[in-house]
Amino acid sequence: MVTKAQFKKDYLKKLTVKSGRTIEEASRWDQYHALASMVREYASMDWVDTNNRYDDKACKQVFYFSIEFLTGKFLMNNLINLGLDETASEVLDELGLDLEDIASIEKDQGLGNGGLGRLAACFMDSMAALAIPGHGCGIRYNYGLFEQKIINGYQVEFPDRWLNNRNVWEVKKADKSVEVHFYGDVKLENGRYFLENTTPVLAVPYDTPVVGYKNDTVNTLRLWSAQAINKEFDYSTFSRGEYMDAFKKKYDVESISQVLYPNDSYDEGKVLRLKQEYFFVSAGIQGIIRSFKKLGKPMAKLYDYISIHINDTHPSMAIPELMRILMDEEGFGWDESWSIVEKTCSYTNHTILSEALEKWPVEMFSKLLPRIYMIIEEINKRFCLDLFEVYHKTQEEVNRMAVIGHGEIRMAHLAIIGSHSINGVARLHTEILKNKELKDFYNIMPAKFNNKTNGITHRRWLINSNPELSKVITKYIGDYWIRDPQHLRELMKFIDDKDFRQEIDDVKRKNKEALAAYILKHNNIVVNPDSIFDVHAKRLHEYKRQTLNILHIMYLYNRLLKNPDEDFVPRTFIFAAKAAPSYYIAKQTIKLINTVADLVNNDTRIKDKIKVVFLENYSVSLAEILMPAADVSEQISTTTKEASGTGNMKFMMNGAVTIATLDGANVEIHEQVGEDNIVLFGLTEEEVYELYERHEYKTDHIIENDPRIKEVLDQLINGFLGVDKEEFQIIYDSVVYNDEYFVLKDFDSYAAAQERIGHYYTDEDIWLKMAITNIAHSGVFSSDKTIQEYASGIWETDRVPK
Ligand SMILES: *Cc1c(COP(=O)(O)O)cnc(C)c1O
Repeated sequence: MVTKAQFKKDYLKKLTVKSGRTIEEASRWDQYHALASMVREYASMDWVDTNNRYDDKACKQVFYFSIEFLTGKFLMNNLINLGLDETASEVLDELGLDLEDIASIEKDQGLGNGGLGRLAACFMDSMAALAIPGHGCGIRYNYGLFEQKIINGYQVEFPDRWLNNRNVWEVKKADKSVEVHFYGDVKLENGRYFLENTTPVLAVPYDTPVVGYKNDTVNTLRLWSAQAINKEFDYSTFSRGEYMDAFKKKYDVESISQVLYPNDSYDEGKVLRLKQEYFFVSAGIQGIIRSFKKLGKPMAKLYDYISIHINDTHPSMAIPELMRILMDEEGFGWDESWSIVEKTCSYTNHTILSEALEKWPVEMFSKLLPRIYMIIEEINKRFCLDLFEVYHKTQEEVNRMAVIGHGEIRMAHLAIIGSHSINGVARLHTEILKNKELKDFYNIMPAKFNNKTNGITHRRWLINSNPELSKVITKYIGDYWIRDPQHLRELMKFIDDKDFRQEIDDVKRKNKEALAAYILKHNNIVVNPDSIFDVHAKRLHEYKRQTLNILHIMYLYNRLLKNPDEDFVPRTFIFAAKAAPSYYIAKQTIKLINTVADLVNNDTRIKDKIKVVFLENYSVSLAEILMPAADVSEQISTTTKEASGTGNMKFMMNGAVTIATLDGANVEIHEQVGEDNIVLFGLTEEEVYELYERHEYKTDHIIENDPRIKEVLDQLINGFLGVDKEEFQIIYDSVVYNDEYFVLKDFDSYAAAQERIGHYYTDEDIWLKMAITNIAHSGVFSSDKTIQEYASGIWETDRVPK
């Protein structure tokens, strides 16, 4: 362990070397850059050791393939995991610097849209903490998820220039580059297929250390960047004088890793996306095979040494790509290759939303990836034959289950049949997969299906983001919970302890004041820390029902206008959400929230009893400020639509009370905290399926019989909101005529649940008991537990501690 004196010496030296300035002259960025570089170097010793350890022991290693990694900032987490956070804080203090200030200057690594990418990041942290040999494989996008600004109430997107000031954490490994081939003609020679006339792209890996918690273990997040190959800069074109064309080719090639697609749970079906998927999958697998060969172990036993995890369907070309390498390059036959692939690969399903399910047009696919397409055709042919002959399926059933159908390749079907394990991400979600969405597959291969409820790393979402709460917890139950967060349950022993409750209350109050200051600074809105901080933070999507929340706020406002002196618990409704740039109704929902905010916040008649705040640019860093300050966690998706959710777990861990439908992991949160410590409302799973199956649901009855709803809906289109009457017509039409997410159906139940929240909050004893019970039971949602279950139940990997 580095001593304080050493740390100080190293830092001063680093600062001078890196910036060429004295500490007084150094800019904040210089200070950050020096500190981060130093921390990365500290981690580097263990990084090399860890890789040698894994190789020497020839232990089984996991490669977690994901098209997104939403990691956020690294500095504080790395300091904590290295056990150097206090040292750093004290040393900087002595130098007249502030660690928190310096850390805040780091750009978020925002290479993900939402939950899926954040899960991948939490999993990286947990694998390292548990000394599980597990590495990430993804794309080094030059631009991450867009930066959101709110202008005149509308979302406006700006490019996320996260790499502008260089990325301290990554190391370019040019010598480990590989070529990925697109297009070309498939040829056969001596019984082996190969490609000719391809367009090759150089895949260059950038490695980022993933530091384990105080365990000398450092895993690797490897992100691939696309580069034109020198010979690709076409000198023949060049010499013919077609100067611009030569550059265009280079530009086209490098566009592959240029920018992250900004869609959450939506598949655009664009060829560039297909290129991205094959690019990182092919590069990743080639890299794995190359290092595997150095071990000198038999390729036929690949699955004893390597596990490839497919995070949603985006990396499912790992299956045909590994088939290609085993057959075309290693000379295995079909059957043996298939058996190796199936034993090596495992797949996680993340959604049942039909708009998110990837399907590629055969025409587009076969042109871009002719050899991969051939392999998929063969996989499909053999699978369909099995369905007829082994499982005696009808033609109709076979058509439904085939990998290729209606001129499209169904990536989920490919992932299912090429993997030995298929998991859902919360118990309810897995049951829906087994009994509804993937029923056909479950019936013929039930043993492959299993559940792994998502989790979150308490190191980022509690220790780092809420240090004050962490201190109070440790004061009462000691610090063993940091190693095993299940021990947070011991907090229940103090639930009636007045001092403990007071300290929990004080911490929340402080965090609320900090958020209030942030809101004042960024939105110029004064909010009252004594009011309920009710937070709805997640991607903007119809199924997540921000619409239900804002319509309910409009109703509360109407109620207060009619009776301003009503005994009303003051509330601050806080939203944060990015909408996909092409998702019009989602963007209009942002405009609606901001329009209501303007109206409500500036209406003195309601005496500040309601405030509405939309915080721009929801990101990991903003989440780290929001979660610790929330009283109420809005988890109000249409039941069956949210596969798991992880935001719900972060709020719970920070002592917020959840208002929830029984959807995704909310079901398991309910089970943990019990009836009294969560506020449930809305349709059940059975009711939702019944409504869908009967095709009879209409909203006119609801609107006629509920004047609250009638009034709010009218206000959307009658000018009440002070904008064009047409502005929110699309939201009106969608809930009135096509309410497929049951916003109006659940309105009454939601309003009643919000009433209960008000009552509980007024009684401090009840509320603090609820908050504490939530914190105390959040340990089961630690991603450490989830990862242990993946390791033993899917990957069969052991911990390889130093
Ligand atoms: C946790 C997290 C999410 C996922 O939130 P859900 O409520 O589960 O959809 C999305 N974005 C960010 C930045 C997160 O930290």
